[in-house]
Amino acid sequence: MQQTHAIPALSREDQKRLDDLYEMIQHEADFFIGYPCNATFDYSPLFGFLSHPINNVGDPYVPSNFHLNTHSFEREVLDVFQKLTHIPEEDAWGYVSCGGTEGNMYGIFLGRELFPEGLVYYSEDTHYSVNKILRCLHVRNIMIKSDPDGRIDLEDLRETIRIHRDVPPIIFANVGTTMKGAVDDLVGIRQILDELAIHQSYIHADAALSGMILPFVDDPQPWDFDAGLDSISISGHKMIGAPIPCGVVLAKKTHVDRIARSIEYVGTMDTTILGSRNAIAPLFLWYAFHTIGLEGYRQRVQYCFEIAEYAIEQLIRIGCRAWRHPNSVTVVFDRPCDAVISRWQLAVQNDIAHVITMPHVTRQQIDRLVSDIAQSKAAANKKEQIYETDHHH
Ligand SMILES: *Cc1c(COP(=O)(O)O)cnc(C)c1O
Repeated sequence: MQQTHAIPALSREDQKRLDDLYEMIQHEADFFIGYPCNATFDYSPLFGFLSHPINNVGDPYVPSNFHLNTHSFEREVLDVFQKLTHIPEEDAWGYVSCGGTEGNMYGIFLGRELFPEGLVYYSEDTHYSVNKILRCLHVRNIMIKSDPDGRIDLEDLRETIRIHRDVPPIIFANVGTTMKGAVDDLVGIRQILDELAIHQSYIHADAALSGMILPFVDDPQPWDFDAGLDSISISGHKMIGAPIPCGVVLAKKTHVDRIARSIEYVGTMDTTILGSRNAIAPLFLWYAFHTIGLEGYRQRVQYCFEIAEYAIEQLIRIGCRAWRHPNSVTVVFDRPCDAVISRWQLAVQNDIAHVITMPHVTRQQIDRLVSDIAQSKAAANKKEQIYETDHHH
């Protein structure tokens, strides 16, 4: 496009600040093993799209007056997820979101619109953002205990729903918790609803990371629409990988129809939470599916499991407790000292930490982490010995 207004170049100082920032990020990337964001991607062929104000405002399935959009590619991405999550094709709806958080908000929003008097149940291992979402939506909610491995405690859930049998439950289920990678027992949850003869309910699944793992394993825990979901949220920048946070949310179309409003200003349906929506994110996801492909992700997921097993072996070898759930790439282990946490950007919670063996994580990085932990343990032991010797005198 011809530029009406030329864009002046950056000053030398400003350019240097950008270069320094880039260098810092490249350096830190070498220690990036604590968060579930895949770092192996290259979307440079999409660069040209950054020169246009593309925008996916509105419903991806409805034409709009805003033509600089990527809705057709967005729909193809959603078709892939429709098959991966087994949502019945004729009742499938979704959009590419800003990330898992927005998808979770959407799910709870739909649940509440269906059942305005409903009560949201979620476990104490649920992602921290959900509490804020519940406040934003001003919906009644009750936190349920988790079992030690991070799954929702079915006894506590049953008793709590029983007490509130007169209001429809909106279940917020975890498919891969943030800290421990636990998958809530969806079969057990459905059984509880059946036993209590509850006919009106809604189940949303937060599958931020595991929604792109479980489609590629031989023995997945029940997690998708076959397990009775009404909606699901999956992050795009986690297992798939993207330089801009993104995600997908899928929901049954019959639910979405109840909240749809037609908006003349943009000539489309206002079915999404946000107005203007990122139009390049669908291209990242589309590009990933058309290059790496589903078979490529299957192989990557296998690689991630191998590295996770390797990490567990190596941590146990130096006397750390370390474990993971089946089909999880989240390796939980004893919380190391603060220097190790900061250096390796580890997420921690009370006495545990985790590494998440995403596709970019290598055995060498695990070796270096384990060696850092072993050294810090040795140093701590030495200090203790000196302390004890001092006290003997
Ligand atoms: C990462 C994560 C989220 C938040 O997703 P974003 O894509 O970062 O918004 C929510 N739930 C779980 C279980 C997560 O792991």
